[in-house]
Amino acid sequence: MRGGEMDAYFCLDGVSKRYGGLAVVDAVTVEVRRGEVFSILGPSGCGKTTLLRMAAGFAEPDGGRIVLEGEDITRVPPNRRRINTIFQNYALFPHMTVWENIAFGLKVAGKGRAEIASSVEAMLELIDLREHAKKKPGAISGGQKQRVAIARALVNRPAVLLLDEPLAALDLKLRQRMLLELDRIHDEVGTTFIYVTHDQSEAMSLSDRIAVMNEGRIEQVGSPVEIYEAPRSSFVAAFIGDTNFICGEVSGFPDKDYCELEVAGLGRFLAYNDKKVPRGESVTLSLRPEKLFLERERGAREGVMNEIRGRVEEIIYLGSQTRYWVRCGEYRLGVLMQHGRFLLDQRPVTWGEEVWVRWHADDGYMLQSYTEADEALLTVSDVESGEAAEEGHDAD
Ligand code: ADP
Ligand code: MG
Repeated sequence: MRGGEMDAYFCLDGVSKRYGGLAVVDAVTVEVRRGEVFSILGPSGCGKTTLLRMAAGFAEPDGGRIVLEGEDITRVPPNRRRINTIFQNYALFPHMTVWENIAFGLKVAGKGRAEIASSVEAMLELIDLREHAKKKPGAISGGQKQRVAIARALVNRPAVLLLDEPLAALDLKLRQRMLLELDRIHDEVGTTFIYVTHDQSEAMSLSDRIAVMNEGRIEQVGSPVEIYEAPRSSFVAAFIGDTNFICGEVSGFPDKDYCELEVAGLGRFLAYNDKKVPRGESVTLSLRPEKLFLERERGAREGVMNEIRGRVEEIIYLGSQTRYWVRCGEYRLGVLMQHGRFLLDQRPVTWGEEVWVRWHADDGYMLQSYTEADEALLTVSDVESGEAAEEGHDAD
């Protein structure tokens, strides 16, 4: 592995953009490595497109620097940046053929006929559209147009390719196919990709690393596994996948690796205490629905299992899985189960049944201490249980 500064091939260094006094991008720093797929993932309106427009040179930052291979390009115009962008709406020229669309950038750059022809042919090969070269965009499908847009953006070998929600206009099946296609194309060309999306599954499946963005700021940068398994904030935990939050206070240390959490109204639970949170601190425990399971019988409290008594309030059949909503005191916990795995007697759990919700202490992830932001999230993520927020407040 390369280390330190060698890692930053393309760098947004403290970049900000204000509109009408509001910082829609607020001192964002990301360091993108050469050849990686780096995603910027965040909800609609969090500033992703604005950030990308600055990276491309279409918008000027109010503060910060943009650095490509050690060179400050903050004031370099878009057409001289070696950075290309693919937009959601493809922006192909409708009156030109596929071939001409791909060739366009090379013609503008004054390349010779032979070079243009061989580059375009190579791109047609890459996107597997050789037999459609003479068609105009109106005569090909959405997925094919997207591939032409990719070819057009790659043909002049940019240092960085920016993709702004490139699959948003496609239906689910096509989106899944295009994700595989993008992955393959990236493998073949090795260009540095910066991929912007609000769709966590797209980011998870495609990226080497993900930056999670919220209200103009980066909340966390990490691999898909790090972002999912070790979220730094409750925003990240709730935005990437589903989760349950439980708020408690550190009340003891039965073991050097674990702490005991006192949760008002629910009891005491073991949690892996990798952050060495001291006694008396309020913490939020993130419990992924797929890491919880239901049982009729109380388990032996062996080892590091936790359990809460609850009542099944809702069951949603999802085909390959079933989602349960279980009322546990002031909390309503979502539990996602593979069918038939959990019941010793194989009778399905029904509405209104009393059950035990169990999880391994290592599967609860302790977030930093409880904040007002958590309270807002608790209210949002647990819509039907307004009391959950109050519960958190008690624990604060
Ligand atoms: P995203 O791409 O994450 O959905 P955007 O970067 O498009 O977010 O927008 C972030 C915020 O900045 C939004 O509130 C948007 O309304 C605002 N915004 C974006 N561009 C402009 C502009 N040119 N003038 C004023 N406000 C803008
Ligand atoms: Mg956008």
